[in-house]
Amino acid sequence: MISNIERCYQCGQCTSVCPMGEQEQTYRIRRFLQMEKLGLETEESMVVPFIFYCTTCYKCQDNCPQGVNLVDAVLAIREKAVHKGKMLEAHKKVGQMLINYGHAVPTNTDAMEKRGLLGLEERPPTVQASIEGLSEIKTLMRLTGFDKLVAESEVEEQLTENAAMVQQADFTQQQVAEEKA
Ligand code: SF4
Ligand code: SF4
Repeated sequence: MISNIERCYQCGQCTSVCPMGEQEQTYRIRRFLQMEKLGLETEESMVVPFIFYCTTCYKCQDNCPQGVNLVDAVLAIREKAVHKGKMLEAHKKVGQMLINYGHAVPTNTDAMEKRGLLGLEERPPTVQASIEGLSEIKTLMRLTGFDKLVAESEVEEQLTENAAMVQQADFTQQQVAEEKA
């Protein structure tokens, strides 16, 4: 059982204050909790994308008369869903970005060009610019199994292609630097 959800007596206060519930009628935090409480790990309890609608704003938790740790519960339900392969394609893409560039949002070509015009290095001195750092990230992701969790053939192919392009650009940059030296 997750956290202290056994305290929930289904009053519905959490659902009534949830901003996501207002936007999306099918998102009912109380229902998720009830299913989890009953141990019903059905397709319905982990239905994508609903379980990912929560913005972790804590409004439900702040208003719960029973002091239920709702946000912890949501995150735990999500975690279980992800380990069952239930996640959005966008999540996988972000995960792949992290593996390939060390950033969920890496410096793109446009930003690199602008940095160049400003006389800056194309990439800021973060892990994205460090072959060693990136290698460590990949090792961590492999050892934790995160790479398999977010693997998706089509995305993987595209990102591998992008990574190869970035590596080629790095190599060219290095060659130019060496020639100048
Ligand atoms: S507000 Fe608290 S007690 Fe009421 S339904 Fe939500 S989690 Fe349960
Ligand atoms: S934390 Fe999530 S479930 Fe709770 S009110 Fe905010 S959006 Fe709704």
